[in-house]
Amino acid sequence: MAVNGSLVAAPEAREACGVFGIYGPGEDVSRLTYFGLFALQHRGQESAGIAVSDGRDITVYREMGLVSQVFDETTLSRLRGDLAIGHTRYSTTGSTSLANAQPMVAEWRGGKIALSHNGNLVNTAALRRELESQGEVFEATSDSEVMLRMVAREADRAGSVEEAVAACMPRWRGAYSLAILTEDSVMAVRDPYGVRPLCIGRLNSEAVVFASESCALTLIGSEFLREVEPGELVMADQDGMRSRAVVSSPREALCVFEYIYLARPDSKIGDHLVHEARSGLGQQLAVDQPVEGDVVIPVPDTGWPAAIGYAERSGLPFGEGLIRNRYVPRTFIQPDQRLRELGVKIKLNPLREALAGRRIVMVDDSIVRGTTKKGIIRMIRNAGAKEVHVRISAPPIRWPCYYGVDTSNRSELIAARRSTVEEVREDIGADSLGYQSVPGMLKGLRIPRRKLCLACFTGRYPIPIPKDVKLSKLDLEESAWREGEEKPKTSAPAPSPTETPG
Ligand code: SF4
Repeated sequence: MAVNGSLVAAPEAREACGVFGIYGPGEDVSRLTYFGLFALQHRGQESAGIAVSDGRDITVYREMGLVSQVFDETTLSRLRGDLAIGHTRYSTTGSTSLANAQPMVAEWRGGKIALSHNGNLVNTAALRRELESQGEVFEATSDSEVMLRMVAREADRAGSVEEAVAACMPRWRGAYSLAILTEDSVMAVRDPYGVRPLCIGRLNSEAVVFASESCALTLIGSEFLREVEPGELVMADQDGMRSRAVVSSPREALCVFEYIYLARPDSKIGDHLVHEARSGLGQQLAVDQPVEGDVVIPVPDTGWPAAIGYAERSGLPFGEGLIRNRYVPRTFIQPDQRLRELGVKIKLNPLREALAGRRIVMVDDSIVRGTTKKGIIRMIRNAGAKEVHVRISAPPIRWPCYYGVDTSNRSELIAARRSTVEEVREDIGADSLGYQSVPGMLKGLRIPRRKLCLACFTGRYPIPIPKDVKLSKLDLEESAWREGEEKPKTSAPAPSPTETPG
């Protein structure tokens, strides 16, 4: 687990990364990128960086920390130019170090290339071995550096970065939404399954903006044009904006977790406002998982829209029962139980007057390891609640993610470790526990199954995972039968989506 020593409750499913890019002659591109990254801060809090081109050379500044800690007037004023890309990082591959911070820069015979990446490749090891056998020496440990080095080598051969990216795309397997900067162009690239979001905006009729989420476009006052299509390469330079479809895939597979937890509620992905999607999940949850209670409370902040939807549909009153300290960054805690519990208290405080003597229906987006939820439930009970009923707007997470979200190894996932929902309920100390079912989730979202990745709920991965990569996140017992041995008899049956005692 990544640790930076802050005494803050770990968000259970952690973010991927945020990417941003702008082609904006005459605009203050480094400041606009700074604000864009500010809007994408929720996607990664380990490091932040901006690379800017003045048409002749690329300058990059990246540091560990939040966007507001990394950049100040002095650093921004040194980043002068007309084109820029930026990145906020949470490491899902590669260690937490400055070497892995982005944008990363490499040289080719025509100049420099900077790259910002959101997602995770599943064939990094094979690609890296191949490059190393050709004499490539790596400075970092991430898949993003492998992609950058591939593009630089290919550009030497092809004579253009655009052609190099197009040549590399079919060889990259997994999730990638990229912003790429050269001295005179900015590119946006999305993997053929469209696992991570990436959108395009227009600013002041001239400038082209790329961002992981539309909330970053809105913040800098640009107009949302459209999403970058899966498998598409979009290029902005002095000739304007053009696009080419480079790779196709049998289906789309946008990460459903973007709707459930990752994206900001004021972002639009596809045709769906994330806030509305979450509220729809809450409404469906109220239909499928009703419970008698006195008040519906959210776990702040991501549980809010689902709790509002649940209250609306169930007819139960909505109220605040947990107050979040807004000045605590969404970052990590030492993985020690005592500090973890202290972390929960620093982040959330119970509103005793709203909880005491009442039957609480607590709505949240997901349960990953279950430790944070346990701390919150204990906190609500200590504040005098009569009963605590937990309703979760996502189905049980039973499989790890290989496409860029750190939902832990399988052995750490509470719904994989426990045989039944009743056992999970007992573990977290709730009076009842109701998960959303997969069909309920799709109904609540109003998005067809064929467009989404649901693998952390179903174990069916839309992009095939190489065996060694797959085993790396499965526990030993699981590894054994996955490798072809007979499945152990002790292996847990799949939990049903809901269970309440007696
Ligand atoms: S496995 Fe889960 S978290 Fe990962 S991309 Fe698929 S839906 Fe998203």
